[in-house]
Amino acid sequence: MKYFKIEEIVDRETFETLGEDAWQLFNTDALIALDGLREFLNTSITVNDWSRGGSMQWRGYRSNKCPIGATKSQHRLGNAFDCTIKGYTAAEARSVILAHQDDPLLKRITRMEDKVSWLHFDLMELPPNKERIYLFQA
Ligand SMILES: [Zn+2]
Repeated sequence: MKYFKIEEIVDRETFETLGEDAWQLFNTDALIALDGLREFLNTSITVNDWSRGGSMQWRGYRSNKCPIGATKSQHRLGNAFDCTIKGYTAAEARSVILAHQDDPLLKRITRMEDKVSWLHFDLMELPPNKERIYLFQA
């Protein structure tokens, strides 16, 4: 990836156990989508911050040690990210992404979680009635 280090998208234990091999826990297209979003918005994006002394470590990949979130969450498949985006509220980010959803940098994104204060996006397979990015509520 161009813009992210592995410790920004996995938890501490996964990083300490697997190191750079942890890249393999992700869907490659999800990694490309995260870099693409970063490039499209041209501002800094925070997923996890534990490696910089923060408390967030479950906003990228969620291992089976993760106590939060749904068991079928796309995070557990390495296919989802929760992002804080400098200069944008989550609602603003969702609006901009929807307005430019066919941009090559954004085209891999299929879903965003609505009505939450972070930007959750993932690449879950589109259901038959959806053609492009759609919003869901947990
Ligand atoms: Zn999420």
